[in-house]
Amino acid sequence: MSDADALLQEISAYLKPQDVERVRHALEFSDIAHRGQLRLSGAPYISHPIAVARILTPLHLDAQTISAALLHDVVEDTDVTGEIIARKFGKSVADLVNGLSKLDRFKFETTEDAQAENFRKMLLAMARDVRVILIKLADRLHNMRTLDAMTRDKIERIARETMEIYAPIANRLGLSAIHQELEDLSFKHLHPNRYAVLSKALQVARGNRREMVGKILTALRQRLTRNHIPAQVSGREKHLFGIYRKMQTKSLAFSQVLDIYGFRVLVDDVPACYHALGVLHALYKPIPGKFKDYIAIPKANGYQSLHTTLFGPLGTPIEVQIRTHEMHEIAEAGVASHWMYKSARNTPINNLHQKTHQWLQSLLESLSESGNSVEFLEHLKVDLFPDEVYVFTPKGRILALPRGATVVDFAYSVHTDIGDRCVASKVNFELAPLRTELRNGDRVEIITAPHAKPNPAWLNYAVTSKARSHIRHFLKTVNFQESAAMGERLLNQALASLNVKPREIDMAAWKRLLKTTGAKSREEILADIGLGRRLNVVIARQLIPASEAMDQLPTGGVITILGTEGMAVQFAKCCRPIPGDAIVGVIKSGQGLVVHTHDCPTLRKSRGGADKWLDVAWDKNISRLFEVGVRVVVANQRGVLAKVASVIAEAESNIENVNFTSEGDYTALSFTLQVSNRKHLAEVMRRLRKLPEIIQIARVKNAVA
Ligand code: MN
Repeated sequence: MSDADALLQEISAYLKPQDVERVRHALEFSDIAHRGQLRLSGAPYISHPIAVARILTPLHLDAQTISAALLHDVVEDTDVTGEIIARKFGKSVADLVNGLSKLDRFKFETTEDAQAENFRKMLLAMARDVRVILIKLADRLHNMRTLDAMTRDKIERIARETMEIYAPIANRLGLSAIHQELEDLSFKHLHPNRYAVLSKALQVARGNRREMVGKILTALRQRLTRNHIPAQVSGREKHLFGIYRKMQTKSLAFSQVLDIYGFRVLVDDVPACYHALGVLHALYKPIPGKFKDYIAIPKANGYQSLHTTLFGPLGTPIEVQIRTHEMHEIAEAGVASHWMYKSARNTPINNLHQKTHQWLQSLLESLSESGNSVEFLEHLKVDLFPDEVYVFTPKGRILALPRGATVVDFAYSVHTDIGDRCVASKVNFELAPLRTELRNGDRVEIITAPHAKPNPAWLNYAVTSKARSHIRHFLKTVNFQESAAMGERLLNQALASLNVKPREIDMAAWKRLLKTTGAKSREEILADIGLGRRLNVVIARQLIPASEAMDQLPTGGVITILGTEGMAVQFAKCCRPIPGDAIVGVIKSGQGLVVHTHDCPTLRKSRGGADKWLDVAWDKNISRLFEVGVRVVVANQRGVLAKVASVIAEAESNIENVNFTSEGDYTALSFTLQVSNRKHLAEVMRRLRKLPEIIQIARVKNAVA
């Protein structure tokens, strides 16, 4: 039977006839596309995609995944385009193929240990769909099996990348068979001599012990049967690299690694696991300290089993794993067992997922969700690491930053000096503004200038605490003058409300004030006012003789807001005031003047301490843009997000941020937009209302700060 026939036979065992037909078409298409191409080994190229697909069939993957596996090199290596794949085999298959080509762009070249974990996470985050990773692992496994045809340089690079990146990913996904084979093959190519010696020693040892293994197997089976525990017992060889690792980490000679054989007992349910354990501990004495209960406490990848090591006949340690059939399938197929169990109801798998690591759990959830409302959700990512984004420095180092991080955050995470002096950047070799939000896999280059300084506006889009605290610190020290100027305006306003003109305050009054406050200079007090550390009204009263200030309440004297005051004036995140709104200023210690809308619900709640409030108004000459929250409810239709976004762009507004929550046929989009004033916002909303998909639209004034 040919490999192609074997593949079709394997999928016929679990796929519907029409799905088998689809895979057959993909197979024929790939065969024709690759015709005439040979692998380095001299084999016809099609042998590779077929082998990759066959690595995936024991995991019972769906027709789309198997088709994509067959087509995975077609776009890269032939003149077939992604569009043709999409037209012939559907968008999902094309997306999977496309996702694979994207991963191929990244090669792991650094020797830094710490970078490997970031690289693994970046690959997973880039993949967006775990099926892409599964195909990638199968692709890598077959390439590893056929690595001999490559040059020594390439063999070493690929083997090292497999050992450090792909084998751990397979392990994390719970794909134990693929994980072990990847490790053994990498080991073989990285250390050919050690591999040869060890595999020979292993062969000899197995020959010597075969008889004893048979005896132990029989003993285990008989004892379980006598205790009425239906069980499947098997002896298994430990994988070579696993033995090598044990020798390394525990500094043992090969002769000391005695438990090269493991035994596995599969039973029907969880109580039977513990029952069997008790029975076997009565048969052979357990070695103290070796028992592990991964049923009660599963491993991070969801693995469940009981492990124990027993003193066998002649004192040989034997390792025994006891688990249910269900747990066994999950251990073998890992994350792919999701597909195996998809159709079967009432399986304990749901229960299992609850116990597994958060990471795997969210991954499985996103998979099961992708079944419904696919059309709308296809614009969104299946995020494997929703909180992080992985980007490259020009030297190829990978940095992990929080999701939403911008170029400024990147600059500060490289070095404080780079952050303080950055003026522009190149993202993927193209000039990009500092506010650009970073995406997985971006290559970021920072352009600095020797005398550049941090800008207060950066605080609007820097999200990492490192960047924010550096910017703040810088602004506090360097922008002393700015704060002092703002403080003077605030003080003059307070004086005006007491009917005192600033020039009526003489040097003596200031000297008195410096003495009582302990401040060093007039500027320091003014800067303190500007930064909200001191209240203008209090200082004003201290500056004028007591008799004149007596019983005077602040009245009138409005302070105008330009929006360019820097640190001294901030706009409240809860209501996001924009020019045209009626506004109120609140002095907050350490933060300066915070501007809220007059009707802000958050502000109303915190009312009290009336002397901290200030009358403020918008200046007539405002030229900057302001952020505003807008909530839009749309009917889930193909491309609706793109439509909304383009209307916003046409109205000359920018989207700062957007969040989604989907419910049934509707999705609520929470935008943060940039507008110049109320009129501009009204125009944006007027244009959006014209879209038929829009159900509801409203400005948000009570965002949780
Ligand atoms: Mn390939």
